[in-house]
Amino acid sequence: MADNGKLKLGLYWAASCGGCEIAIVELREKILDLDAAADILFWPCAMDFKYKDVEAMPDGHIDVCLFNGAIRSSENEEMAHLLRQKSQVLVAFGSCAHEGCIPGLGNLFDRQSIFDRVYLETPSTDNPDSIFPQTSYQMPEGEVHIPSFYNTVKTLGQVEDVDYFVPGCPPQAPQIWAVIGAILSGELPEKGSVVGASATKTVCDECKYDREEKRVTKFYRPHEIIAEDRCLFDQGIICSGPATRAGCEARCTSVGMPCRGCYGPGPNVVDQGAALLSAVASVVDADTEEEAARIVGDVLDPVGTFYRFGLPASMLHRKKLEGVG
Ligand code: SF4
Ligand code: SF4
Repeated sequence: MADNGKLKLGLYWAASCGGCEIAIVELREKILDLDAAADILFWPCAMDFKYKDVEAMPDGHIDVCLFNGAIRSSENEEMAHLLRQKSQVLVAFGSCAHEGCIPGLGNLFDRQSIFDRVYLETPSTDNPDSIFPQTSYQMPEGEVHIPSFYNTVKTLGQVEDVDYFVPGCPPQAPQIWAVIGAILSGELPEKGSVVGASATKTVCDECKYDREEKRVTKFYRPHEIIAEDRCLFDQGIICSGPATRAGCEARCTSVGMPCRGCYGPGPNVVDQGAALLSAVASVVDADTEEEAARIVGDVLDPVGTFYRFGLPASMLHRKKLEGVG
């Protein structure tokens, strides 16, 4: 705690979209309570902090650091190590830090294929000399360094020791406040716990619908069907609810959209994608192999469907790289 009795808080984003930062602002009037309870020592998204400010802090100076974003580059990893060293409690905040999330779908590719796409192939790119980013460049003023881009996206927990995990893309405001309240009261659970979500329920348990139908003859993408007011999975719209931990109050299905799984694996589930795949396979209503192949062939983006939020954290981790570390 600071001399004024306030919590010393740090917030950082690595490879992420910024939604977790917006989620903090989404606390709305509670942000005033946060201000009353905490001094923010580092929040580069919102204010002008420098990395050297953090480097100058004594070890453990920050009480709690909410770290969002995956580890995509050497800069992300260096900051993970630095903030671990300077923080008493390091929290993987949001799906990217927790499981890799959307940036983690980059694990279907490697650095060079991503660079080829971004710097050569996109229709708006004009790069006749095929110039790619360099990690160092000699200028008249001296050598300039930029971070290196990794082949593989990792979670925060895969590069550093993490105290707590807060799931969600982004975490929902009531859950964020519950986590902050637990920190302020000192009532945090065992190290390594997932906080701000249920340990015993799935999204299906919080959903306004009940699953009834166990046979599906066709899968639809959400835009291909006008859904009825009943379980979406029963209607052939793949919904991650059965494989996803509760905590968001089933926000997506409450407005007629399928759960995509952003709160991570449900209770007793090791691999969320495998669990959802199993749920899908169990409802396919086919008498022949050909019929089954036709029905599952409707799933146009299997990795994006089953591992949208958790590919780096999954048992698969990434697409196999031939000869690339
Ligand atoms: S709509 Fe999705 S979350 Fe709701 S009951 Fe059906 S499968 Fe579960
Ligand atoms: S319903 Fe699913 S995708 Fe939507 S917020 Fe909840 S866990 Fe995330």
